[in-house]
Amino acid sequence: MSDASNSRYEPHAVEARRQAAWRERDAFRTPPLAEEQPHLYVKPSAPFTSGNVHIGHVRSYSIGDAYARFRRARGDAVLFAFGFDAFGLPAELGAIAGGESPSDWVNRCATHMTGQLQRLGFSFDWERAFLSSDAVMYRWSQWLFLTLLEAGLIYRGTGTVDWCDTCETTLASIQVEPGGTCWRCHNPVRLVELPQWYLKISAHLEENDRRLEELAASGIWDEVALASQQIVLGRLDGIEVELSSPEGSFLSVFTPYPDALSEARFVLISARHPEVEMWATDPAVMEQLEQVRSGGWERSSREAETVPVIDTGRVLLAPDGSPLPVLVSPVVDSRFGPTAVLGIPTQDRTDEVIASRIGIEAPEIDGEGPGEGDSSGMDDSEPAGDGAGSPAAAAWPGTRPAVRYRAYDFTISRQRSWGTPIPIVYCEDCGTVPVPREQLPVPLPLDIRPTGTGNPLAELDEFVNTTCPSCGGPARRETDTLDCHFDALWLWVPACVPPEAREDSLEEIFALPDLRHWLPSERLVAGSDSGNFVFDQRIVTKALRDIGPLAFLSDGEPFAGCLFHEMVIRDGRKMSKHLGNVVDPDELVERYGADTVRLAVLYAARPQRSLNWSDSAVLRCHRFLGQVWEYSQRTLATEILEPAAAADEEAPVRDTSEHLRLKLSQWCENAVKRTTEDMESLEMHSAVRNVMRLFDRIKDFEKRVLAREQQLTRANRDALIEALIVLVQMLGPLAPHMAEELWIALGREEHGAQTPWPGVSLEVPA
Ligand SMILES: [Zn+2]
Ligand SMILES: [Zn+2]
Repeated sequence: MSDASNSRYEPHAVEARRQAAWRERDAFRTPPLAEEQPHLYVKPSAPFTSGNVHIGHVRSYSIGDAYARFRRARGDAVLFAFGFDAFGLPAELGAIAGGESPSDWVNRCATHMTGQLQRLGFSFDWERAFLSSDAVMYRWSQWLFLTLLEAGLIYRGTGTVDWCDTCETTLASIQVEPGGTCWRCHNPVRLVELPQWYLKISAHLEENDRRLEELAASGIWDEVALASQQIVLGRLDGIEVELSSPEGSFLSVFTPYPDALSEARFVLISARHPEVEMWATDPAVMEQLEQVRSGGWERSSREAETVPVIDTGRVLLAPDGSPLPVLVSPVVDSRFGPTAVLGIPTQDRTDEVIASRIGIEAPEIDGEGPGEGDSSGMDDSEPAGDGAGSPAAAAWPGTRPAVRYRAYDFTISRQRSWGTPIPIVYCEDCGTVPVPREQLPVPLPLDIRPTGTGNPLAELDEFVNTTCPSCGGPARRETDTLDCHFDALWLWVPACVPPEAREDSLEEIFALPDLRHWLPSERLVAGSDSGNFVFDQRIVTKALRDIGPLAFLSDGEPFAGCLFHEMVIRDGRKMSKHLGNVVDPDELVERYGADTVRLAVLYAARPQRSLNWSDSAVLRCHRFLGQVWEYSQRTLATEILEPAAAADEEAPVRDTSEHLRLKLSQWCENAVKRTTEDMESLEMHSAVRNVMRLFDRIKDFEKRVLAREQQLTRANRDALIEALIVLVQMLGPLAPHMAEELWIALGREEHGAQTPWPGVSLEVPA
């Protein structure tokens, strides 16, 4: 066991041996449901099938894997599995570039990435892995679509999309170059109006907001994740007040500046406000409104200086009787949601710009203006700059505290072929007909070859022409597909489904005890750019709770805890091929081994901070693991060479080192306590430091003993080995291959998923 060949740390040999052993004993298979055993679902992010595992994935999965292994090491049952996010534009573009079908492309990428992840030794339950583009999986999207449609949470509306006349295709926003030109042909892109499917999130915004406090109080939502939820929500606190027009119409208006009401100079309504048409009484105004609604403005014109502003010619009256012109503009939406707000130029730069564009000077001097019925009367007034002196300040009757959210319903359909087919058919007699659930999945033809122009699905007669499920007459299928963001809404659920039940109906799946057992996920570990996904997953969980399938999640939260880590950068910049600063995980693993790479990304930075890549962390961790290996092997070798510890019996050395042994055991105890806390709170960078410190102390102990006694007595050698065992146990979740190999070398048995945590005895199966 401890022959000379083992004295040098050879990570590739160690890792190949351990990975084979893990496969052999099916170490990471999800344990059977046992209520009495603490159990948890650690949710890793769902990677895009981009073709390659990058160093950001390595960071994410090293954190999640260390946590999953730590919990297993403590005797908990852990579900740790994911599905690839395989639909969408990147896959389509990859397939075009590779001259193959998207389906072949994503399958090839997923296989390659799986190999990379396995080589890194991540403890995923691979039997539960899946691709969102598998028919048995995308029927989840179709089922969810039908379920939300029935509940009124999906609706058909009109939206604008970028369109290239030359390529005759719609473009995703990332395909529009900064100058507003097409990525493919570089001709100008315009916005066109198209019917779209929308997901209604507005119904659950208030609850998503309210629950944030509970999530914060749980202590297992980290600050970055919580902040992301607030940012996506875009909550604005202020007041609202009802204003009336001279003709007796009313409108509720909002402002986040309750102390500056007297400085309000106009009212701005969103073009999506439910009552906006009431203010567009003039046909010319109505025409402009229609134009704005259909996006008939230049895509570059989204700044305050150029965004469309329609003067309705109508006014609302401030409490002091001064007229506030009513304007309509899409600028409201991105700032306050589809609402109506007071324009207060003294408080807000956008308002100031709009005021000057339509010739409203701000603010007006006291005593002028009131009672005048038209806004032009204000053009000549001088800016006073001191609205607070106005007697009307803060004296508006009927104001009440109010909240607005920037987050709003969004479109979920795309004019693309590589996505989940929307389960809708259009029948001349019956209209829009949902495909009955028992007919799911509506299969996506696999031989489609996107070319970058048009939507090949819409040109495929076998797909388009169908029969109406309602009357049996001829009908046409919806040829838009679902945006892969929609797939993400459910991607966190199927890992809970045992592989043998994967083909069951979704009704049966939602009735499985497995979902109740594993959900909510105890911890999501994902990149800090996942805020939108998580926000919408939280919305849909609440919807499915109310509708029934997820009724057991009473607070409507899919994740009890959440850790968002920042990305890996280099030289202070984002990594990109273009900058030539990409770190290739394969190369690193090849050179240093998986354990070193994993340990280095954990060691280099706190998850909540960007990891600025430097080779020094890798070198430091590689040296550390090498030293632990060699030190352990040397200690074990002398143990074998002097098995009877003959020295102490024949010529007993006076025991002058008892206090050192005591100190060593205290160091161990301390290190275990601290590292346990670190692992519980996913502060792996600190855990690695504590383990490194313990190793220094073990070496220090030996040095001090030898300085006193020239040799190690039995008692001291036992103490040393005991400390090494503790060290190896704590390394288990951090550098799992080497830790298990040393664990065996130290005479312990390998079994189950993980070496046990110090103080924990995991049952060895008979
Ligand atoms: Zn083009
Ligand atoms: Zn019909």
